Amino acid sequence: MKRVRLLVFNAALGALDYRVPEGMAVEPGSIVIAPLGPRQVLGVVWEPERLSTQEVPETKLRPLLEALPVPPLPAPLRRLMEWTADYYCASLSSVARMALGSMAALRGGGTTTEYRLTGEEPARLTPQRAAALDALQGEQASVRELAELAGVSEGVLRGMIGAGLLEPVTVDLDRPYPPAAPDFAAPELSEDQRAAADIFIAAVRDHAFQPFLLDGVTGSGKTECYFEAMAEVLRKGGQVLVLLPEIALTENFLRRFEQRFGVPPVLWHSSLKSSERRRAWRAIVQGKAQVVVGARSALFLPYARLGLIVVDEAHEVSFKQDDGVRYNARDVAVMRAKFETIPVILASATPALESMQLAEAGVYRKLALPDRFGGAMLPDIEIIDLRKEPPERGRWLAPRLVEQMKERLTRGEQSLLFLNRRGYAPLTLCRNCGYRFQCPNCTAWLVEHRFSQRLSCHHCGHEVPAPEACPECGTGDCLVACGPGVERIADEVAEILPEARAALVTSDTMNSPDAIAAFVAMAEGGAIDVIIGTQLVTKGYHFPELTLVGVIDADLGLEGGDLRAAERTYQQIAQVAGRAGRGEKPGEVLIQTRHPEAAVITALANGDRDAFYAAETEARRDAGAPPFGRWAAIIVSSEDQAEALAAARLVGGTAPHLPDMLVLGPAPAPLSLLRGRHRFRLLINARRSAELQKTLREWLEPLQFPRGVRVNIDVDPYSFV
Ligand code: ADP
Ligand code: ZN
Repeated sequence: MKRVRLLVFNAALGALDYRVPEGMAVEPGSIVIAPLGPRQVLGVVWEPERLSTQEVPETKLRPLLEALPVPPLPAPLRRLMEWTADYYCASLSSVARMALGSMAALRGGGTTTEYRLTGEEPARLTPQRAAALDALQGEQASVRELAELAGVSEGVLRGMIGAGLLEPVTVDLDRPYPPAAPDFAAPELSEDQRAAADIFIAAVRDHAFQPFLLDGVTGSGKTECYFEAMAEVLRKGGQVLVLLPEIALTENFLRRFEQRFGVPPVLWHSSLKSSERRRAWRAIVQGKAQVVVGARSALFLPYARLGLIVVDEAHEVSFKQDDGVRYNARDVAVMRAKFETIPVILASATPALESMQLAEAGVYRKLALPDRFGGAMLPDIEIIDLRKEPPERGRWLAPRLVEQMKERLTRGEQSLLFLNRRGYAPLTLCRNCGYRFQCPNCTAWLVEHRFSQRLSCHHCGHEVPAPEACPECGTGDCLVACGPGVERIADEVAEILPEARAALVTSDTMNSPDAIAAFVAMAEGGAIDVIIGTQLVTKGYHFPELTLVGVIDADLGLEGGDLRAAERTYQQIAQVAGRAGRGEKPGEVLIQTRHPEAAVITALANGDRDAFYAAETEARRDAGAPPFGRWAAIIVSSEDQAEALAAARLVGGTAPHLPDMLVLGPAPAPLSLLRGRHRFRLLINARRSAELQKTLREWLEPLQFPRGVRVNIDVDPYSFV
């Protein structure tokens, strides 16, 4: 009799043993369906020696029900999953779950049915049908997805199918993607670019683990360099994974990829419609998806022939996932390359301090592109000391910045104003009684959004309509907006430069690929004079006519005292500054600050990146912070405050006393209430020599908590709220 061990997709269960029925063939990595009590569960066959479970006598083993018709998860991926679960103190099943596309994709190929409008337009329509007819122009998807798109019930659409307004279309799930041509439009590379590209190409040919840090200034052509490495993988019939920090950037990437390789890459993200998700997943496991572009979630997919991983804008904070499995996709990407024995390229103009350190230590090979492509100069950066050159009362743009913007407008050039704050104002209060609008679920003010006429919480999404009167004292017309958000800056621009064509770029306005594409086309076509945006506009874009960047509040990111505040500020401002002067005309950057003496600000003004990294390195060394020491956070939360506190005290009270580890807390987390949960936090600062994960597990696993308590471990945390 053949016995197998399964990793079942249920975090509480872990591993279970089963019997393989006669005639069924499975091997490690096979995805199967097994009985569990009266139910069925999905599981992956695992090497029994790598996964412990309670021994069950042979006679009690139940037979597997079915082996799914997909290739087994490859061994390097299984090793990566084990490493990830171990390093981030997560359950193996929650890591493994990230490899699976959808249940439907596991069921095999074949066809599925989607619906689209027939084009028929009856004279009389119910309002719902009329709305659906309007919303579904050019769309094709499942009934459920169309219902969501149109904002009507599935019943309405079924009715429309019956009435001949929607027709079924059979979609082949395994229809191939058009092949990318490695030499479709290869550019002439500069000398520096050629040198870097050749090293990448050699590494691809070697098919050995080699991590690279591609450290090139903004506009140096990092993308063109790694495109050469991708071309080599394509020639060899391999697959490439490109990780981008956010979906908003894919639009831009897509276009460049298509210009270079003749076809678009395969996209992977959470809002793919189900048939595209199945198609992409199946092409990935079969090795037919050549280049896959995605955010974090593309990292754990079961590529059959991975030959290269690229992490672009590798310093970006959004590579760190802060719920579910709390992992850093940049670091896991390097580990994946290690298990797959392939090269990995981390590309950035402002690498993370950790990455710089690893390059210095010789772990990563650093390749530098010190100059912009085509002789473009890096922009000139100047500081506006807001204490000496304040804006007019009630305004946020200093006179010098306004003057420069006017000049750009006369010359037909573009300006970009950067403020990393969505909405109109971060705080609304009552002039009469001092009442402040706070989120009932979070320790946070409600942010006013004038466009949507709502106050909303940026943590939990709680919203209220913008009130007319103070809810506390009842006075009307007494509410004042405090501080600026991008919407308020846009208002100011409209007042100062009424003739300027302005575009507001935030996640509120750029909420679809179409919206982003439209914005890019307008900006490139010269139909926009002033761009006002959040961090969404800091990276990726290349607008040749953009010659002025204004940073509204450089001090914003320095508040809050989180470990990486200075680094993040440096990166963000250097990136947004990098949008200026990318074409033939030189760029200028004006940074508004109240702390011109801060090390970050002077380093930016002097273009002295090395000085900044040196100062930051020393500060981290003194604090025992990464990369010199390590941090972990334990967040204990419950809807009941007393229960959360008691649990946090239990964690604190059982903390181990070790010479190489310091446990701080518990203390209320800065966001002490989040989505209705009260939160307490412990911080662990460990020397590099400490066995951090093992200690955490041995400390926390024996503890028992009431049902309502959640204990989350965050290894190498980025968020300190
Ligand atoms: P980075 O990612 O380093 O900021 P990009 O790859 O976006 O730089 O390149 C900046 C601009 O220069 C892009 O418009 C790109 O197409 C162009 N460029 C870079 N290298 C070349 C090259 N070798 N030939 C032609 N255009 C190039
Ligand atoms: Zn909230």
